Amino acid sequence: MSELAYPYEAPASQALFDRAAAVTPGGVNSPVRAFRAVGGTPRFMVSGSGPYLTDADGREYVDLVCSWGPMILGHAHPEVVAAVQEAVARGTSFGTPAEGEVALAEAMVERVAPLEEVRLVSSGTEATMSAIRLARGFTQRTKVIKFAGCYHGHVDSLLAAAGSGVATFALPDTPGVTGAQASDTIVLPYNDLDAVHAAFAAHPGEIACVITEASPGNMGVVPPLPGLNQGLKDACAANGALFVSDEVMTGFRTSRAGWYGVEGVVPDLMTFGKVMGGGFPAAAFGGRADVMAHLAPAGPVYQAGTLSGNPVATAAGLAQLRLLDDAAYAKVNAVSEQIQGLVTEALSKEGVAHTLQTASNMFSVFFTDGPVRDYEDAKAQESFRYTAFFHALLANGVYLPPSSFESWFVSTAHDERAVQRIADALPAAARAAAEATA
Ligand code: PLP
Repeated sequence: MSELAYPYEAPASQALFDRAAAVTPGGVNSPVRAFRAVGGTPRFMVSGSGPYLTDADGREYVDLVCSWGPMILGHAHPEVVAAVQEAVARGTSFGTPAEGEVALAEAMVERVAPLEEVRLVSSGTEATMSAIRLARGFTQRTKVIKFAGCYHGHVDSLLAAAGSGVATFALPDTPGVTGAQASDTIVLPYNDLDAVHAAFAAHPGEIACVITEASPGNMGVVPPLPGLNQGLKDACAANGALFVSDEVMTGFRTSRAGWYGVEGVVPDLMTFGKVMGGGFPAAAFGGRADVMAHLAPAGPVYQAGTLSGNPVATAAGLAQLRLLDDAAYAKVNAVSEQIQGLVTEALSKEGVAHTLQTASNMFSVFFTDGPVRDYEDAKAQESFRYTAFFHALLANGVYLPPSSFESWFVSTAHDERAVQRIADALPAAARAAAEATA
C-alpha cells in the first residue's frame, strides 16, 4: 500500500453511503454508481472542476467518466456556468415555449443533416421510448429489433435480452417487464447482419424499427464493423421499417455531428442526450420530417413533458454546443489517443492480455486478446483484472467507470497535468491487473 497516494478507506463517502442506503434502494439513484461490479465504497463527489472531481474525503481524482459522457468540456466550464447562471436568474421553468429550446433545436439540426426536426425531452430513456412509439405509430407495426449488449435506457421493451445468443423472442430481463412487452422485442447479436435479414424474413410486415447504438459503448466500446449500419439501414428500407440510430452517447461527442458525422449513414430517426444537455437533463429525438409530423400536436402519436425544453437545461446545452468547434474535437481526440497509448503501454509492459477498442474519442479496455465484436465476446473478458486495475487507479486518484462494460470518457479540460497523473498511476494498476486472480 505504500505506493498508493491515498489511503484506501473513504470514511466520509462511507458515512454518506450508509445514510443513503437508509433512504434510497442500494444507496444510489442509478445502479452502476453503487460499485457493485467492482466492490468497495462508492465515492460521493462534492465538486468538479475541469478534468477533476473532489470527493467528500477531500481527495481529487482525474475523471475518466465525465458524468458518463456529457462533460466533454470538463466540469464547471466557466462559459457553461455563466450561461446557466444567466438563465436561472430569469426563472427556472415556464411551462410555455421559450426561445432557448428553439435555439438548441436549431443548433442540433444545423450540425446533423438527417435531423430535419427534433423534439426535446429530459432523458435518453424518454428519447428512445418516444422514438419507438413514433416508429410503431408511423409504421402501424409492433415489433422492434434491438441488439444484445446495446443499452437504450430503461424502457420496458428495451430491457429484454436474448436467450443463449440466438435470434429469438426475448424473455423479460427484469421483474416488472411483462411478457407482452418483451415479446414484441427481437434481440439479435450485434455486428451480425445475417441475423437481421433472417429476422425480417421470419416476421414479414411486423417489424416497426431496428434500434441500435450508433457505435455501442454500453458493453464497453464495440464499434460497428464496416458496412453494418448501412446494412441495417438498407434492410429497414427494403422491409418498410425505420432505422433508429441511438446517439445518446455518441451524439456531439464522437464528432461535431456525432457518429453520423463519422460514418455518414442516414437514419430515419435518431436519439440524443448527454452532451447536448451540458450536464443538465436534456435529451431529444428527431429525424425525417414526414415521420416527425406524426407526433402530437401535429399528428396522432402522443408525447409530452412538463420539463421538456427546460430553459436552464437548454441554456447549458446550447452554451456547450457553441463551444464544441473543430478545435475542441481535435483536442478531445488527441488527449484520448494519448491516454489510450499510456494504458496500452502500461498493460503491455506487465504482459497483461488486453484489447483497447475505440470509437473516435470514446474508448475502453477489455481484458482479453480480442477482438470484441459483440456482447458474448465482451462477457468473455477477465473482468476480475478490471476490478484490480480500477481500484489501484482509484487509490491513486484516477476515477474510471466502476464496471468493465462501459466506455471511458475524456474532455477538452484533460491537460498535461491530468495526463501525467494518469501516467503516474498506471504502472501500479497494470501490475495489480497482472497479479489479479479470479
Ligand atoms: N441510450 C444510450 C446509448 C445510452 O448510453 C443511455 C445512457 O447511458 C441511454 C440511452 C439512456 O439515457 P438516460 O440515462 O439519460 O436515460
